[in-house]
Amino acid sequence: MKKFILFFLLFLLTILLLFEIFDGTLSDNFAKPSKNIITQTSISSDVSPKSSSVNKKNQSSQSSLDTKEIPTKAININNNVYVSIFPEILNNGEFFKITLSSNVNPLSSIKFLQKTYPIFKGANGVFSSIIPVPLDTKEGLYKITVDYLEKQNIIYENINEIKILNKDRGFDYITLSQEITKSAFSEESIHEDAEIRAETSALFSVGNYWNGAFLMPCDGEISTIFGVGRSYNNQPVSSYHLGLDIAADMHTKINAPAKGIIKLVVESPLRGLMVYIDHGLGVQSSLAHLDSAFIKAGDVVTKETLIGTVGSSGASTGPHLHWEVSVWDTLTDPFVWTTTSLFD
Ligand SMILES: [Zn+2]
Repeated sequence: MKKFILFFLLFLLTILLLFEIFDGTLSDNFAKPSKNIITQTSISSDVSPKSSSVNKKNQSSQSSLDTKEIPTKAININNNVYVSIFPEILNNGEFFKITLSSNVNPLSSIKFLQKTYPIFKGANGVFSSIIPVPLDTKEGLYKITVDYLEKQNIIYENINEIKILNKDRGFDYITLSQEITKSAFSEESIHEDAEIRAETSALFSVGNYWNGAFLMPCDGEISTIFGVGRSYNNQPVSSYHLGLDIAADMHTKINAPAKGIIKLVVESPLRGLMVYIDHGLGVQSSLAHLDSAFIKAGDVVTKETLIGTVGSSGASTGPHLHWEVSVWDTLTDPFVWTTTSLFD
């Protein structure tokens, strides 16, 4: 009987020891992601609160990250590579940043909505990419696939999800004089404008020149937001306003919204005198309907640089600045750029 009790006690001790070992192993395994949670929280806290126009769900997800109640979606895809996406919920016409920590092959790429995007290594050694969500994206959950390459072979495919909401941006009814309609919206004018867009799409540079949130390029009142449907001269809605209009007095000073390099100063029958700024990482600003431009291609500009003045050139009904921000040729909401800081 004594032997049996001794054996039983030994058995209990063994089980207790085993529990101790497993517990230790498990907590050790989770140590890395939890470290990453701290990193990711610091990334999101760098981002200034979104505008009131952003869906409430987005704000609640933001605050839950701040309070560290909900684990982040940072995924440990192997021992030392993490994927983080910011923000995880956003509207059509906006953009997100995907960050990959550690030693990623720069040839690795990101697939989103049937397009492939490159990944760039920042000065801090962190790989990231900014991905646009086109305005016509339907509400839903979408896949983001990160392919890790080694000698051009996919060695690991990491699949994340992102939630896209649809924001109601309304419609505008615009009356244009016959003269403007004839000259600005002729087939020739539309073709010329498309050619300018094609020309600038080949002008991306790898580095990111800016940090912090973008600034409004001029003083004035927002007269038309991004994404509004447009009907000209009582015709059915034929297009969407893919920039931000700031109504201002003629000759109001225009500054660069963020650091970048002037890529093009050009005149278009539709958008008048305009300036293209390359901010890097596929992000580009264009400032249109200018009265004058004081810079030339190749100039480095910062938020302090005077670019030109407000005018009403091209197809315009009065003095205003039409500001566009494109990410890899997809136009995104400029206002969101003024409330979001993707890099410190
Ligand atoms: Zn406009």
